[in-house]
Amino acid sequence: MRRTEYPEALRNLIAQLRQMPGVGPRSAERIALWIVQNKADAPEQIANALRSTRESVRPCALCGFFATQELCDICADESRVVDLLCVVEQPTDILPLEKTSAFRGRYHSLGGRISPLDHVGPEDLRIQQLLDRAAKEKFSEIIFALAADVEGEATTNYLVDLLKGKGISLTRIAHGLPAGGGLENADELTLYQALSGRTRL
Ligand SMILES: [Zn+2]
Repeated sequence: MRRTEYPEALRNLIAQLRQMPGVGPRSAERIALWIVQNKADAPEQIANALRSTRESVRPCALCGFFATQELCDICADESRVVDLLCVVEQPTDILPLEKTSAFRGRYHSLGGRISPLDHVGPEDLRIQQLLDRAAKEKFSEIIFALAADVEGEATTNYLVDLLKGKGISLTRIAHGLPAGGGLENADELTLYQALSGRTRL
């Protein structure tokens, strides 16, 4: 006798949900069942939010943070200090730094770090855009806020080599970020101290 299964549409929904980060088979099944059994319009609202977010949110043309216009809110904010730049690995590193209020300049997200083992080279990152900005925006200081692990360090050193001798002060945030954790896992005070106590490169 054939084993009874959920209808194909439901099985497909479970398979699609499983693609999401942090969603295992059990969670995917629970979410899918919630969607098909929900009597209110919550699933439709989620579908709408999904579509409109996909259509409206894109990377900022300048820094790579999330934006709904060409420039994100930070780059479009004229009250920000214009000659200070903070370089981070991921756009998600920017909000934790913003929360500390220790930095009023602008950001540049690389979209990752150089990692030969993962086949990520300089050309895969937003490094040319960084050099273009350094040539155009007249920064007095560029602060590197990459992870304090081997690949973060190597990426920082690579960028420092490209940017030195241009009359820009190159600094890095003080160490003390959780090893291998990146900025996302650092608490506010640690980040504040790391930003305040930066060292020259
Ligand atoms: Zn931006």
